[in-house]
Amino acid sequence: MKSFKKELWFNTEKRYQFIHITRDVQEALRESGIQEGLCLVNAMHITASVFINDNESGLHKDYLEWLEKLAPYSRDGYHHNVGEDNGDAHLKRQVMGREVVVAITNGQLDLGPWEAIFYGEFDGKRRKRVLIKIIGE
Ligand code: ZN
Repeated sequence: MKSFKKELWFNTEKRYQFIHITRDVQEALRESGIQEGLCLVNAMHITASVFINDNESGLHKDYLEWLEKLAPYSRDGYHHNVGEDNGDAHLKRQVMGREVVVAITNGQLDLGPWEAIFYGEFDGKRRKRVLIKIIGE
């Protein structure tokens, strides 16, 4: 069995931002040379997500508005905000998830027709990373 690891680094301009990373994951898969297996992609930070959904800007606005209703930004509104202000970001990350796992078939990510992979940032403007781990043959 082969194993391959790669990190992607981000430093977003905005506090909340979604970044399309399907091509980065495809590039990692190409570098790995693995034809059949599994690909894990996870955020290495507890205020960021990796998720799969439609690459459609309206939906991304809907996500951000929905998350803001669930866990609005508030400097004083969270028990966690002692010395920092990212209590909302921890909750947003929990809803959007930590990681995705994608099957690899014939050397390709075996995604559904409208599936795309995104990095979701909820406490940005700092350097953060995503881990890609690919195992298989
Ligand atoms: Zn925190």
